[in-house]
Amino acid sequence: MLIVMNHNAGKKQIEAVSKAIEKMGYTAAPIPGGERTAIGVLGNKGYVDDSNIRDLPGVQEVIHVSKPYKLVSRDFHPKGTVVKISGVEIGEGRRPVIIAGPCAVENEEQILKAARAVKAAGADMLRGGAFKPRTGPHTFQGLKEEGLKLLALASKETGLPVVTEVMSPDNVGLVASYADVLQVGARNMQNFDLLRELGTIRKPVLLKRGLSATLEEFLAAAEYILAGGNGAVILCERGIRTFETATRNTLDLSVVPLIKELSHLPITVDPSHATGRRSLVPSMAKAALVAGAHGVLLEVHPEPEKALSDGAQSLTLQGFARLMDDIKRLMPFLGFPA
Ligand code: PEP
Ligand code: MN
Repeated sequence: MLIVMNHNAGKKQIEAVSKAIEKMGYTAAPIPGGERTAIGVLGNKGYVDDSNIRDLPGVQEVIHVSKPYKLVSRDFHPKGTVVKISGVEIGEGRRPVIIAGPCAVENEEQILKAARAVKAAGADMLRGGAFKPRTGPHTFQGLKEEGLKLLALASKETGLPVVTEVMSPDNVGLVASYADVLQVGARNMQNFDLLRELGTIRKPVLLKRGLSATLEEFLAAAEYILAGGNGAVILCERGIRTFETATRNTLDLSVVPLIKELSHLPITVDPSHATGRRSLVPSMAKAALVAGAHGVLLEVHPEPEKALSDGAQSLTLQGFARLMDDIKRLMPFLGFPA
């Protein structure tokens, strides 16, 4: 439930409504806006009887929200959220952000080569996994803390902020001490303990859509992080399982404009994991930007044929530079300088 206050409602009236909500056993979450304050009601399982609230002084309207997410919803927060990451801004009204780098950090030479090349081509942020959620246990599982150190080194040299995955709640502190943005992978989208832990930190989170998650489940997962107190969440569509096996996943591009209608959070697209094929990545990256994505996440490797993971979908350094030329040409069409 969302309580919209009159534009001239004062602090006392807002406090009285919050108290009434708490008295009913729920949590009140005031959301100050430019024009007026709204108060979100959290913790209810079903319909809330609003008879104790709707006639209180200063209350203009009571909106019943039946979705499993509220804080994430545009109803609660009409203005688009812009997430700030050491100099990079991602979200509504901002130039789309290009995040690029290898699937996994493999060694110093590989990550430095990749970082220097993506920086030279115009990327805004560096990606690279140190903790890798692999389908089978016998494949490369990532360099773990050593990988985080190499990412920090590449970041220091290039000035690019770093996005890297965290797989377990126990490692959130460790990963947060090295990374600028913590990624939740598709396989962990509903790892609720991990989401809760990420709600307690003060670093942005990039949340990827689960392999078989509906849009509602995706937004409800983001709600866990916001409900914990961390509002800096960036969503990422990375393809979903469908009957189609010609591509690794099916890129659900229509969620980009739909998420922009339903939520205030930034939405990015990962065409690398969505398609699984290098040849399809540039088209889908450009399509994502035209669809209104606030950024794209791209796997790039200096020698994809030797990559320890996801080589088939990784762009070469030259391929990435070519795509960046195209993206720069696209920018004026999107309303930004080239
Ligand atoms: C990744 O970004 O390297 C990754 C493992 O992606 P996803 O969780 O989307 O499969
Ligand atoms: Mn990968």
